[in-house]
Order: sequence, then structure tokens, then C-alpha cells
Amino acid sequence: MAQRLLARVTCPNCRASFGTPIEQILDVEMDPSAKARLLAGQVNLVVCPACGFASTLDLPFIYHDPRKELALVYMPMAAGRTDLERQQAIGALSRAVMSTMPQDQRKGYLLNPQVFLTYESLVNRVLEADGVTPEMLQAQRDRAELLKRLLEASTPEDRMSLIQENLAMLDESFFRILSLNLEQADALGHAEVVQRLLEVRALLLEQTAVGRKLAARSAALRALQEQPTREKLLDLLIETEDPTTRAVLITFGQPLVDYLFFQKLTQRIESTPDEEARRRLESLREEVMNVREKIREQAREEVRDKLRLLQDLLMSEQPELLARRRLVELDDLFLNVLAAEIENAQQAGDQEAVSRLQGVWQLVMRLLQEQVPPELLLLTQLMEAPDEGTVRQVLEANAQMVDASFVALLEQVEQDMRARGEEGLAQKAAIALGIARAMAPQGPPEEPKTPQRPSGLIIARG
Ligand SMILES: [Zn+2]
Repeated sequence: MAQRLLARVTCPNCRASFGTPIEQILDVEMDPSAKARLLAGQVNLVVCPACGFASTLDLPFIYHDPRKELALVYMPMAAGRTDLERQQAIGALSRAVMSTMPQDQRKGYLLNPQVFLTYESLVNRVLEADGVTPEMLQAQRDRAELLKRLLEASTPEDRMSLIQENLAMLDESFFRILSLNLEQADALGHAEVVQRLLEVRALLLEQTAVGRKLAARSAALRALQEQPTREKLLDLLIETEDPTTRAVLITFGQPLVDYLFFQKLTQRIESTPDEEARRRLESLREEVMNVREKIREQAREEVRDKLRLLQDLLMSEQPELLARRRLVELDDLFLNVLAAEIENAQQAGDQEAVSRLQGVWQLVMRLLQEQVPPELLLLTQLMEAPDEGTVRQVLEANAQMVDASFVALLEQVEQDMRARGEEGLAQKAAIALGIARAMAPQGPPEEPKTPQRPSGLIIARG
């Protein structure tokens, strides 16, 4: 990625020196995972290859969220520069962001980024833009602290009294924090922590009102998964007291909510003699229709978003730059919407619109192809080649890619195809392999090349 530069760092633990990619631009539009890394305090987190010590490099970076018009520069005092140098570095960071944006999308906020001296104050600004207040943050910290105390409690009695004393804090957001901790501990392979978290959760599912509600919700969902029929969905909806659980059931069971479903529900209503019970069923029918309408509205909104993006691409003077920025949004739904628009234009006989839309299609296809690693593209070409002569031509045209690691890839493919009984494809791989072996330079594969540095950026300390 263009934003990743290499820096040399010295491990604070074992003094080993190593090269590591550093981030100077976190752009949530181009890399949606950037925000999670920021919030988790993992920007420029490096792990020493010699001793495994993890630490974060306290380096300047810019955080950019175009939708929220946020351009936030982190400029720690530790970067140790004069005022002038700091101003220049800030200017360079915002210019680097601007260079990735089409001219017609550049806005004033980029010229005047907000500067933060501490990481925490920058994170708070990002959260504030999400509508997260300091009180909400404090509430989260309180819950995390309570979880820690529950985990550390040495006897079941201690745990129970902690639960009794803090019932008000043991809400759905507490359970979310618990699940998050569970995922993290699991991903890190901390089996003992996972075990204790599961114990605490089991206890809370039994001992708190919210816990019992959540337990009932997952039981209802499991029941629907095991028996995905209209009758079962209807029974579960009638049994379930909690409206959120009913909404979850309707959302998961959406394919079942059709004309037949409503017919069954109406039959139940008509065959219920008790007036009170009948009214409950009638309001359930209304509720199901409302939830279904909300789900459909969301789907329509997604289509409208894609149409807006398509319009922007058609209007932009630099559609490619815009498409690169919004690459994550160029998904299957976008392609479906675009294909439908092309068809509409064809039916309307609007040749000019057809060719402009096809231009967008070709652009998107080209960018999506770029995302596929070049070795895989080459491999696909080889496997589709009709004869040995073509295989040789393709390999010779891509000679710079035919190295030891590509030969290893072909060996793997040949083995896999034989194992799967695909003799024809295995044979093709074998032919390509023979030619590639003769072409590939001997010795270990080359080191990957250092990424190009964007103009005007200063790399801080090594
Ligand atoms: Zn080290």
C-alpha cells in the first residue's frame, strides 16, 4: 500500500534493529480497518522479530474520515521538532491525503487539519464525532473494571456478591464487553482466560435478568435454525415476550416471512376464540409487517447509496481516483446496480449513456483485477491457455514473474489438481512447470521491493 513506508527501529527490549512498515495516513474510506486499529491503540504497533516484544512507535500520522469531514493529525511532542518543522510535517501529511482525492472531492477541512499532541485526545475526537460522550466512555470503563474484578474473584461466593452489588451495571453493554474479551482471549490463545470468561458468562446468564433474556434469545434463534419453517417461526414469535428477540427472529427468518406466512398467521387469528389472545396476534401481525418494512427500507437505502456512488463516478473529472478511494464499496451489489443501469439505458436506446456506464464498468473491472495478486492472474492465464505454445508465450511475456516462488506455486497446483482427480488441469500445470523451471533464475526468491514514498513526507527517527 502506498501509505506504508519502511522505517528502521531499535527494539527497546533487546536492542535488535529491524525494518518495519509504518503508517502515516489512516484513511477510513480507503481502509475501513484503520478506525478499529486507531481505537484499539494499535497504530504503528510493531513486534520485534528477535524477541517478540510488542510496542507502538510514537510517530506522527493523519487520520482521515471524508464522510465526517475529519482530518486529524497526531503530532506527539516526542517527534522533537521545531515549530516550523512541525508545521511543514502537518502540511505534508494533509497534502499526501489530498493527492489521493479527486480534485472535485477536496474540501476545506483538509487544508486546516486539527492537530493533537496526545493519542488519547485524538481518539476522543473520533469518538465524539460518532456521538460517544465522555459519560458513555466512563460507563464502558466501569464495566471493564467490573469484569476484571469478576475474573479475579477467588471464590464463587465472592463472584455472587459482586454480581448482587452491581446488578445495574450488568446490562447488554456489559455482555458486549464480555464477548469482545472472549474473542480477544480466544484469538490470542489464552486458554485459561477463555475458561474463566466462560465461567463468568455462564453465571451471569443464570443470575441476571438481562442474562436470562440473552439466553432465551439465543435459544430461540437456535430453535429456528434447527427447524426453519413458517410454523416454527410463528410459534417462536408468539412465545417470545421480548420485542428485541422477536425483531431478531424476524430478521433471521426473513425468507420465511412471505404471503404464506401471513396466511398462516391470519388463520390463527381467525381460529382464536379468546378476544384478548386475538388482539395480541393482530398486533403481532402488525409488528412483523413493520420489521419487514424496515429491513426492506434498509435494502433500498443500500441500493440508493450505490446509485449515488455511480452518479459521482459518472460526474467526476477523475473517476479513477474516486473509484480507488471507494474501492471497498465496489462490491457485488454495486456491480448488480451498474448492470441494471446499463440494461435500462440499452432498453431506452440511449447509446451515450450506455457507453458512459460501460466506461465505469471497465474501470471497476480493471481496479478489481488489480486487487488479485499478479501471480494468480498469471496462473489463471496459464490454466486457460489452449496449448503448449500459448503457455510458453504467456510465460515468456511475464518472464520477470517466473521465479523460484512461482515454480513452487505451480508444483503445488499440479499436486492439488492430481489429488482432486483433475488430470487435464494437472497436465497443464505440469507443462507450465517444465517451461517455468527452465526459465526461473536459480537461488532464493528476491526480497520484495520497498514501497515508493509519497512526495514530501518526512520519516521520523530510526
Ligand atoms: Zn526485541
